[in-house]
Amino acid sequence: MRPDALNPLFAETQTLDGVGPKLMKPLEKLGLTRVRDLAYHLPERFVTRRAVANLDEAGEGEQVIVALTPTEHRAARNPGRGPYRVLAQDEAGNICALTYFGRASYTAKKQLPVGEKRWVAGRLDRYGDMLQIVHPDHIEEESSAHLARLNEPVYRLSEGLTQPRVAGLVAQALDRMPELPEWIEPGQFERAGWPNWRDALHLAHKGEHEQARDRLAYDELLANSLALLLVKAEGRRRKGQALKGDGSLRGKLDLPFEMTAAQKRSIAEIEGDLHQEAPMLRLLQGDVGAGKTVVALAAMLIAVEAGRQAAMLAPTEILARQHFETLRTMAAPTGIEVAILTGRAKGREREGILMGLLDGSIDILVGTHSIFQDTVNYKDLGLVVIDEQHRFGVQQRLALAGKGKRAPHTLAMTATPIPRSLTLAQYGEMDVSRLDELPPGRQAIETLVVSQERVDDVVAGVERHLETGQQAYWVCPMVRDSEIADIAAAEARYASLKERFGDDVVLVHGQLRSEIKDANMERFAGGDAKLLIATTVIEVGVDVPSATLMVIEQAERFGLAQLHQLRGRVGRGSEKSRCLLLRGNELSETGKKRLALMRETQDGFRIAEEDLELRGGGELLGTRQSGEAAFNIANLEQVQKLLPAAHADARLLIERDGGLTSDRGEAARILLYLFERDWGVQLLRGG
Ligand code: ADP
Ligand code: MG
Repeated sequence: MRPDALNPLFAETQTLDGVGPKLMKPLEKLGLTRVRDLAYHLPERFVTRRAVANLDEAGEGEQVIVALTPTEHRAARNPGRGPYRVLAQDEAGNICALTYFGRASYTAKKQLPVGEKRWVAGRLDRYGDMLQIVHPDHIEEESSAHLARLNEPVYRLSEGLTQPRVAGLVAQALDRMPELPEWIEPGQFERAGWPNWRDALHLAHKGEHEQARDRLAYDELLANSLALLLVKAEGRRRKGQALKGDGSLRGKLDLPFEMTAAQKRSIAEIEGDLHQEAPMLRLLQGDVGAGKTVVALAAMLIAVEAGRQAAMLAPTEILARQHFETLRTMAAPTGIEVAILTGRAKGREREGILMGLLDGSIDILVGTHSIFQDTVNYKDLGLVVIDEQHRFGVQQRLALAGKGKRAPHTLAMTATPIPRSLTLAQYGEMDVSRLDELPPGRQAIETLVVSQERVDDVVAGVERHLETGQQAYWVCPMVRDSEIADIAAAEARYASLKERFGDDVVLVHGQLRSEIKDANMERFAGGDAKLLIATTVIEVGVDVPSATLMVIEQAERFGLAQLHQLRGRVGRGSEKSRCLLLRGNELSETGKKRLALMRETQDGFRIAEEDLELRGGGELLGTRQSGEAAFNIANLEQVQKLLPAAHADARLLIERDGGLTSDRGEAARILLYLFERDWGVQLLRGG
């Protein structure tokens, strides 16, 4: 049971003033569903704006405050498709567009009457030939000198949210934070001179405060280490079942290819683990296209040969379907039963699957997290495969583990290459198999770095490429704190490319209604549309073999791991593929080296290792947006700086007080709940 002290933290965000159904969606998109999440939604950075008399004084990309008088409101021709723009004039006669997406246009209508001067605060950008401010942070009627002095937090947003909105909700959340007992070892706490937990949260939202940030990061690392140590202790107690396959099913497979040495080695490692009674906990790491699926199939067939069932968990519905089709086709000659269960299965269909799992007629189940639900019971689950490990916590793993008569074996798979030195922080005590070799015959992707100034040449190149009948992706830059600015850039690029290529171009970004997005994706996948313009949201698992050109704008803004993943979407067919990385002019030495590395190699592991060396890893631990990150609070630098101490602290506590019953032990339980590592505590209870 969660300690009562934490109840206010785990109340839903709807309990905050002003949060209704409309705000829920954008909040959920950022993973902010409870008061706790808002308190921990730490600012990306802090901004101080400059007041300017007119826009001639301001630079592009600068945060400004300027007086503007609206002259015209322009609604999108197709509501729901394009942005809403308010044209406004400064005192020198410059025209600037104030651009709004989605519901935000209602705000614009109210706050920006034509002919009335307003003070507008926001980031000045350019849209084609026009200056623009996308979703201004503030609009005020009176002079706004105070705005210029504000040192304001900048929060990560999603569509439908504004900075003041989020700041207001965060303030409400902080007001509800209770005092909590200290869980950090007193010596460590004093040496570091850290604030207590509650103060640290307040300080971290107020300004750059390294100690507050470090303390909050340390908390997360400590919680993680504690939970991993508790799991490890539990693993020693809990028994699994040895699975020995006779090869009868694997022998019937009729694969159109020879396994690579890395695949054979990984399967042998897995088979060795399955022979043991102790539950396997193994991570299979391999780049996109390395052939993880067939390794997973082999592992699952061993379980079925041994008379057990296997389940494979995918992060999304689309991927679950893809896996289901692939596995069913590959496994067809074996005659085993493969089924799929997702949230979409209802009524009789669902009951049929549940029956089949219970009576053992289904051998392999593929699905989304719905395969965890309490109502889903297996006859004898021997193996769980988790695709894209980082999206699932150990918690879900244990939920599935609870399903077998005895603990099932677990194989987790990830395409995110993690440097060896960081595997422990990310994956704890797992054993690792690496597919460090791609299947033969893959075309190398030719990668070029081109100055952004030559974008016209690049467009001409795209035109020649499309004329050959092949397809292309065009990825627009990513601005860290603003999905909205990304979208504005993508919209602008789309407008100019559409002029040139007409209906051959489609646009996909997080702002579009999902039917439109799906329809656009389908047109591209079906070959009807030739050029796909996207922000970085190109869905995982998109596979279009005749898309053989990838253009990435302002590539230096992306993390290397992300560039690597994006590039992996071409080079899937038999035609030669190319990737053009457009770079801005002001490129640092490190920036140059990083892009050069992309040009030089396609080896995800090497890219990960060298990126870590070049700049301390950046987003290597996964991007927060996509929920891939191992840690939400601690960044990589903090992991490196604080993890050793946190781990030692955790070990000492477990050694002295393995049942977490002392005062500090009790505080540590609260910590585990706070970071939702409470599976650690639950294990304690079971043991
Ligand atoms: P990922 O590791 O990204 O999940 P997949 O398992 O989807 O990769 O495999 C990518 C493609 O490579 C699939 O079409 C698969 O059939 C094929 N493949 C897998 N292993 C081999 C191999 N040894 N030789 C040739 N093709 C292979
Ligand atoms: Mg895969």
